Amino acid sequence: MNKNMMIGMTKDGFIRFYVANTTEMVEKAREIHQTTPVATAALGRSITAASIMGKMEKNDNVKLTFQVRGSNLIKSIVAVSDSNGTVKGYISNPDIDILLKENGKLDVGGAVGKDGSLIIIKDLGLKEPYIGQANLVSGEIAEDVASYYMSSEQQPSVVSLGVFVDRDMKVEAAGGFIIQTMPGIDEDTIVKLENNLGKIKTASQMVRDGMSNLEIIEAVLEGFELEIMEESEIKYECDCTRERIEKALISVGVVELKKIIEEDEKAELSCHFCNKKYSFDKEELESLLSEITA
Ligand SMILES: [Zn+2]
Repeated sequence: MNKNMMIGMTKDGFIRFYVANTTEMVEKAREIHQTTPVATAALGRSITAASIMGKMEKNDNVKLTFQVRGSNLIKSIVAVSDSNGTVKGYISNPDIDILLKENGKLDVGGAVGKDGSLIIIKDLGLKEPYIGQANLVSGEIAEDVASYYMSSEQQPSVVSLGVFVDRDMKVEAAGGFIIQTMPGIDEDTIVKLENNLGKIKTASQMVRDGMSNLEIIEAVLEGFELEIMEESEIKYECDCTRERIEKALISVGVVELKKIIEEDEKAELSCHFCNKKYSFDKEELESLLSEITA
């Protein structure tokens, strides 16, 4: 098992942290969606955040949907995760290209735009899912997640997410961390944390330097005594099934389904998250039709 996720607290109990190395996960997403570097970075930061946020949920049955609605070239990014940190995702515009920023970095904020929103849906299988929404701050994703936590859940958080794409378009390093402070934390501790945050390198740079999750959090929380509570594996995995695709096909409605049967005599649908293709012949389509008309 690749223990790429670490959860812990400072011994004083005032800071909790989640650190993840998501290089493999983001590279898998890139292979599936054939994303350009800036799309890889935008999708990679989003699935990294969604995976960590899934792990943060205490309820085992939660399904967390992380949705960025962009206002520029990227219209939508969707990531779905669970409490194991298993995640899947897609981006509406995998082939976009945009000039690098002046500092040579991928311009995720420019590609997403600032006038969009971040929507978090937590579905516990109850009647009504929890839906939280926040306006984007920069479109760079990490800041937007921190702002979401502050405005929707009144939870002060430090969020760092990074993806480094190599010249061959592959993901060389990806990862991130979320740090949250607990009520009652004193001013000196906050100042100490802020000083640390001012000194550290970016998350993707630290992963690129070969730092482990422990080394990263030791740098971020230098001078604090740490207690590691969990080390586990998070991954990109799609859970689509033929039944679920059938439901999607049924949802197009009787008229549309009849039209498909008459005109095409078959249908091929692919999963948004993993691109797996599902084909239906005429007979199967007719049996689906009789299911809804019955
Ligand atoms: Zn799938």
